Amino acid sequence: LIVLGIETSCDDTAAAVVRSNGEILSQVVSSQADLLVKYGGVSPKMAEGAHSLVIDQVVQEALDKAKITEEDLSAVAVTIGPGLGLCLRVGVRKARKIAGTYALPIVGVHHMEAHALVARLVERELQFPFMALLISGGHNLLILARDIGHYIQLGTSIDDAIGEAYDKTAKWLGLDLSKSGGPALEQLALEGNQDSFKFKVPMKQHKDCNFSYAGLKTQVRLAIESKNIDATIPIASTSSEDRRVRADIAASFQRVAVLHLEDKCQRAIGWGLKIEPSIKHLVASGGVASNKYVRSRLYNMVEKNGLQLVCPPPSLCTDNGVMIAWTGIEHFRMGRYDTPPPACEPDDALVDIRPRWPLGEEYAEGRSEAR
Ligand code: ATP
Ligand code: FE
Repeated sequence: LIVLGIETSCDDTAAAVVRSNGEILSQVVSSQADLLVKYGGVSPKMAEGAHSLVIDQVVQEALDKAKITEEDLSAVAVTIGPGLGLCLRVGVRKARKIAGTYALPIVGVHHMEAHALVARLVERELQFPFMALLISGGHNLLILARDIGHYIQLGTSIDDAIGEAYDKTAKWLGLDLSKSGGPALEQLALEGNQDSFKFKVPMKQHKDCNFSYAGLKTQVRLAIESKNIDATIPIASTSSEDRRVRADIAASFQRVAVLHLEDKCQRAIGWGLKIEPSIKHLVASGGVASNKYVRSRLYNMVEKNGLQLVCPPPSLCTDNGVMIAWTGIEHFRMGRYDTPPPACEPDDALVDIRPRWPLGEEYAEGRSEAR
């Protein structure tokens, strides 16, 4: 099988061509980070416009780099949710057009499922059931993956995701956001003392596997205000003393943000092993899992529990088309796809978008255990 994957759920336009043996034939990502820097944020309408502008080019480049044409494809996979409806529609329209024109099956993909399943492309030994910690800009999920399309949600964020906390902290510290806040903050934290600011680890008293990063964000903002840090002065042009304080805040934030992950993973592993004693792996994926500090802390914690950490390389942790193509392959093999009817028009509704789409069912016993 050769599958094209298309991803437009957030602010990256991505496409990739992947073979069912796991070979990545091409991978193209066009980022809207420059818009972010220029306007200090991206509205859904702007993001939709940016996706529309580049989608044809990104898909064409993915096909060209793979040295194939649409006729060589076995199927098209596209993210249908969760995400911004306006943005999802751009990718879905493109996928429908190709599927309709070339009479190809189309697979609608869950973005967060794709973050998790791409680990199976990377680590061919990774069998179900396994645990997954998915940490990105919009999600903080702990799931037990029992099979393709069969997930139990052990924990989720009750407010902000960790990536949002990284991005805001980076912005308040005056970091260069030309890529995204996370990597810039990771870099600065290397210079800082992680014990200099005593932020409180969130949700310590809660006996569940849920996350909360809104309170930590507030603690960081107050610390920044108390040190009179002026985010309008870029880190590159500030005094060395001011830079040191900023680095201390970055390192202290990162330590506590990750302690919170470790706490909840630790509990979730207990829950997971109770449901499925044969679990051997914990997958960490999503943009924040590309962070070296996050990876090494999780590695130690997971090893201590007798499990193995599987973490995709950074380019497959942040949003990409490979994970969509691969998840398309996993579902296609199970017979889960739509086929365009004869004489299908490009605008015919082949797959529907699902901007709000939970991944799996909530772990019901978790609620009673948490009491
Ligand atoms: P979601 O997957 O929830 O829909 P998204 O698709 O926007 O959100 P991803 O591309 O998966 O998110 O991840 C982006 C997030 O990851 C951003 O918040 C970014 O700051 C963060 N991130 C990326 N690299 C790093 C890093 N090295 N350290 C910390 N955070 C990082
Ligand atoms: Fe994502």
